[in-house]
Amino acid sequence: MREDGSGGAAGKAGAGGSAGASGAGGNSGNGAAGNDAAGVAGNGAAGAGAAAAGGGIAPDVFIHPTADVSRDARIGAGTKIWNGAQVRELARIGKSCIISKNAYIDTQAVLGDRVKVQNNVNVYHGVEVGDDVFLGPSMTFTNDMFPRAFNSDWKITETRVRKGASIGANATIVCGVTIGEYAMVGAGSVVTRDVAPHELVVGNPARSIGRVCRCGERAAGAGRRCEACGYVLPEADAEAGAGAGARAGRMGAGEGASAAGERAGAGGRGRP
Ligand SMILES: [Zn+2]
Repeated sequence: MREDGSGGAAGKAGAGGSAGASGAGGNSGNGAAGNDAAGVAGNGAAGAGAAAAGGGIAPDVFIHPTADVSRDARIGAGTKIWNGAQVRELARIGKSCIISKNAYIDTQAVLGDRVKVQNNVNVYHGVEVGDDVFLGPSMTFTNDMFPRAFNSDWKITETRVRKGASIGANATIVCGVTIGEYAMVGAGSVVTRDVAPHELVVGNPARSIGRVCRCGERAAGAGRRCEACGYVLPEADAEAGAGAGARAGRMGAGEGASAAGERAGAGGRGRP
């Protein structure tokens, strides 16, 4: 039996931050989120590979008694899985992640290291999340571009979130997009196109309203030092060459609307 969601509706622009999470996840952060990520060095590769290589569930993983975690999932050291969360078989979760209350990690979904998954988040098959990513409360991914309840041979459309990116509360990520490194998605946004590294997007469909530093502060622009932390933002064009998602960083009004129309039906499917 499959559970279909029909997403795509109704998000509204947030201010770049998400509401704080409550409950067992422990992080009552405000979606700015970048603080934890800022000091972490390393490449952009998803850290889940480490967990995968070892196989199984690391001995010090904390699993709340009410969580439902498949023994066939791969989970890295130091990760905590809280009340009522479900982790499906063949899911891959890296080290030192927090999977908060009622989150759902679908089969074959991939999370890197130090990922914070807040309450009620859905990470479906076809989604790959890099290291140090923040997934705000009740945000959801999707993996079916044209959902029908009666269509049995539906096709998964993949989605990627790169290292250090943050997604605000209640945002919807329509499948098939890449969210670049250290990008930030405002609360309630509906993302229908790629988001460039360090880009800040809000609204439905989500549009760029500027850039953010690794530390989460709004940034003046390429080549400018962040007043909060001193980090110098890379040039947008240089990133475009390296980053998979940079292509669509700047959305034309018409393009954005059109993309939203094409994708309005996207739904997420994961078995309970
Ligand atoms: Zn900064």
